Amino acid sequence: MKETTMYEIGHLINGETSLQGKAKQDIYNPSTGQADGQVWLAGETEVADAIAAAERAFPAWRNTEPVKRARIIQQFKVLLEANADRIVELIGQEHGKISHDALGELKRGIENVEYAGYVPELLKGEYSKNAGPGIDTWSEMQPLGVVAGITPFNFPAMVPLWMYPMAIACGNTFVLKPSEQDPASALFIAQLALEAGLPEGVLNVVNGDKDAVGQLLTDDRVKAVSFVGSTPIAKSIYSTANAHGKRCQALGGAKNHAIVLPDADMDNASSALIGAAFGSSGERCMAISVAVAVGDECADRLVAELQTKMKDLKVGAYSNPDNDFGPLISKAHHEKVSAYVDGAETQGAVVVVDGRQASDPQYPDGYYFGGTLLDRVTTGMTCYQEEIFGPVLCIVRCPTLDDAMALIDDHIYGNGTCLFTRDGEAARYFSDRIQVGMVGINVPLPVPIASHSFGGWKQSLFGDLSAYGPDAVRFYTQRKTITQRWPSSSVREGASFSFPS
Ligand code: NAD
Repeated sequence: MKETTMYEIGHLINGETSLQGKAKQDIYNPSTGQADGQVWLAGETEVADAIAAAERAFPAWRNTEPVKRARIIQQFKVLLEANADRIVELIGQEHGKISHDALGELKRGIENVEYAGYVPELLKGEYSKNAGPGIDTWSEMQPLGVVAGITPFNFPAMVPLWMYPMAIACGNTFVLKPSEQDPASALFIAQLALEAGLPEGVLNVVNGDKDAVGQLLTDDRVKAVSFVGSTPIAKSIYSTANAHGKRCQALGGAKNHAIVLPDADMDNASSALIGAAFGSSGERCMAISVAVAVGDECADRLVAELQTKMKDLKVGAYSNPDNDFGPLISKAHHEKVSAYVDGAETQGAVVVVDGRQASDPQYPDGYYFGGTLLDRVTTGMTCYQEEIFGPVLCIVRCPTLDDAMALIDDHIYGNGTCLFTRDGEAARYFSDRIQVGMVGINVPLPVPIASHSFGGWKQSLFGDLSAYGPDAVRFYTQRKTITQRWPSSSVREGASFSFPS
């Protein structure tokens, strides 16, 4: 029977796994279209227990020497590397990512763990000797308390690793709420963190839906919230968290444009665009979904190159490492992406390559969508205005670089962008002025390395601080500035009624 063979995913609360909650929800394997598992959705009790466990663990953890916290994080990295194959398999089963892509995701996550391992250096603070007569002043970065993280389906292993390794390394305790669509890898990885030596309650995982999120956002014991997901939810998370007095960073969706100038190395640009638009089925917040070609001749050359190269694209099950990318996450999402392409056609776009009928003959019920190329897309079309989050690349034609840049600046999103050119002056002009948070020059996916921070502009990020890197240290700590004097016979003053200067 189906129920007896299904695996179950629960929660990790106070060091214990638990299989309970308000209901269970099916977890699909998008490569086969079959529900292979079920996830328990936390009810009020599970969320409250997780917050309480994190709160109890906080006093001792905040007082643990940073170097000892860092050693656990370093051991966590060792365990992540040792268990990479298992994690890659879990990502593949529930998300559909091919092993090379899932491993890339995991490695990027591990880089964040590695950076968090330098926390004694990152928390050193600032010191001013003799700020006044016999007075010394220093600033410390103190942890906040219980921090919550809410993560999306598309990087089920990496995005949680953007958050809790640094939050915990800084002395906070954490409650993670992964995506209910592919929760297994996040839970498995959290168990490794405990195995690395985290005391019980320091890291807790609750699986759940919007009710669990609502509870995390409104419970006074949660001091800060990191969110990554779609823009409408990010916006609402940010305002609810703020209304409840919490620090919040909420990263949202994207519509990343690449500009191709006529002088670009077209072979390089088209290959780069194919990887950036169709890799991971376009389900990346940094995916390039619009290529703006400057000049009709440039556009014609680009479309021809893309069309030729797209003939070699291989879409299929996650289990075949020869595939370039796997299925979309769900049937509902497949229908949504199809509807965007249907709508684009109706609104006048030219469907140069059509991925709507893609399939893997071995798995006829999988949610496969082939690489799709839409030419002569204009700004009034829905496929241009909204995030499709599928393997669909729109070509927009523009007369000049300034016109192309104006398109990007006028878009509501500002996550990533890229310019393909051989002209250094144009590249400098572009990177200096463009209203986007992460910019590539001949680099289509300019995802910052772990020692920088990741964040878009405009409606791609709500909050002041970006994810991971140095901004994460600031987000997960609060500054305390201490001014100290030790009265002695040489430094002694009477009452002062004016502000010292
Ligand atoms: P989503 O917004 O649907 O879900 C994200 C998280 O929010 C999940 O944990 C989900 O359970 C929860 N959630 C969903 N609806 C909610 C609601 N009404 N109230 C409270 N919580 C809710 O996003 P997704 O579909 O899982 O992920 C894809 C989106 O994430 C895309 O828009 C993508 O661009 C974005 N994303 C952004 C970044 C970035 O760094 N900016 C990175 C990865 C993904």
